Amino acid sequence: MDEVVKALRSASAKDAEAVRRAYDFAQKAHGTELRKSGEPYIVHPEAIALTLARLGMDRDTVIAGILHDTIEDTPTTPDDIEREFGKTVRFLVESVTKLSKLKYRGLERHVESLRRLLVATANDIRVIIIKLADRLHNMETIEFVEPVEKRNRIAMETMEVYVPIAGRLGIGVLKSQLEDLAFKTLEPERFQKIAVYLKNESEKAKGAIDEAVENLKKELTAARIKILDIHSRVKSVHSFAMKLEKKGNDIEKVYDTFAIRLIVKTEEECYRALGIIHGLWRPVPGRVKDYIASAKTNGYRSVHTTIITPQKVAIEVQLRTEEMNREAQFGIASHIAYKQGAARPPHDIPHSILWLSRFIPSLMKTKRVDTSGQGLSPATTRWFKELTEAAENFQGQEAFQQALKEDFFAERIFVFTPKGDVIDLPVGSTPIDFAYAIHSDLGDSMMGAKVNGKIMQLTGTLKNGDVVEILTKKSARPNRKWLEVVKTSSAKHHIRDALNKRAGGQPVR
Ligand code: MN
Repeated sequence: MDEVVKALRSASAKDAEAVRRAYDFAQKAHGTELRKSGEPYIVHPEAIALTLARLGMDRDTVIAGILHDTIEDTPTTPDDIEREFGKTVRFLVESVTKLSKLKYRGLERHVESLRRLLVATANDIRVIIIKLADRLHNMETIEFVEPVEKRNRIAMETMEVYVPIAGRLGIGVLKSQLEDLAFKTLEPERFQKIAVYLKNESEKAKGAIDEAVENLKKELTAARIKILDIHSRVKSVHSFAMKLEKKGNDIEKVYDTFAIRLIVKTEEECYRALGIIHGLWRPVPGRVKDYIASAKTNGYRSVHTTIITPQKVAIEVQLRTEEMNREAQFGIASHIAYKQGAARPPHDIPHSILWLSRFIPSLMKTKRVDTSGQGLSPATTRWFKELTEAAENFQGQEAFQQALKEDFFAERIFVFTPKGDVIDLPVGSTPIDFAYAIHSDLGDSMMGAKVNGKIMQLTGTLKNGDVVEILTKKSARPNRKWLEVVKTSSAKHHIRDALNKRAGGQPVR
């Protein structure tokens, strides 16, 4: 428990004391109960508490992590917990307990599991973070689960339900660990093969990477750019496997097996450092990716470039500020933590929360999130508007599931207005989706579209990076056929509205 206390965000002696008290309470409650590994049960809650403390979660969450199995597995009652640790801890433990009663029944039902998990976060996102930490330790000790069918079922559920959630919430550290553990369980041979390959390649590349790090340090210091942190990382086994598949199994085409992460103070320094890097090594053409200007959907921000060292090793360099780094690793967890610490200036609503709110309108009403929409960038305000609308439109279970399927698994593209504003749409979106994403009036009066300066059919498919200009005419009207091609629920909703009005109130289905 010392390690947990040391990892706590809060340095207060009172918080440390409460965490230790929770540990003693859980130890007593679980008594002589053992894990399947044969270890005393308490190692499990202790591991979860450590994960939560390292994610920067607050005291109540860490305590709830320690107590998370007491209601289910021991005579402890919710009242006992409230008496000892207060209402919040009781609520968190009860919510986690309810979730663990759900049984995963295979792929066809997994959308339902996702939904329930997400709904469980409606009152408090901390519930799902405890659940993810719980799953991580269960996966770390999955080798002790028998028989193999049960092991595979748990690993499958991890891959299909928990990994996407961790990813969408931007909790990179949990996502990659969960993913590798599930992959190892489901495809042990393939996992082993790739793990060995990565290990051998890392050994071969070590000299070149260390040299690059040293050179970079020297040049940045000379340019008076303060390095807050610099380290290298090897791609995780599962993400390497996915990348390899995407590149048609051509290992030569995987450029980000090795990466150097460089943390600097400001955004401006990220770009300056990028220039210095390109002066030092030959960058691989087409590999500069500016996720600071256009963040990924889960909120990930960084600038990437790939260099080739004199030893012919390709290294991806990832440049970011401390805040971007925290967000990349901890995602939504960092926002909760910083809201409570009040150390974070109020600014854009994190993408992860916006995304969640699509499915859980009530999230927007919780105090933890600033929903005033004031002081937000125009792009964020638009996001916000679209999401709130979409959330309001989800009434039935069916509509909800459909939207979840479309959105959860769909990749997004970024396209631009002629003025350079970024519009974020699902893959397969049309100029119609684009127009309605900007304003319903624009969609209702559109007669044509120019994409990258050329006329495109309204029902054509947009690509990442397209510049889209909508041509309008006063007398233009939405067409019923558009309903079949649009991808966003917002466009569908507005088209139906416009058709309804024209039909004189006759509902259009
Ligand atoms: Mn557990």
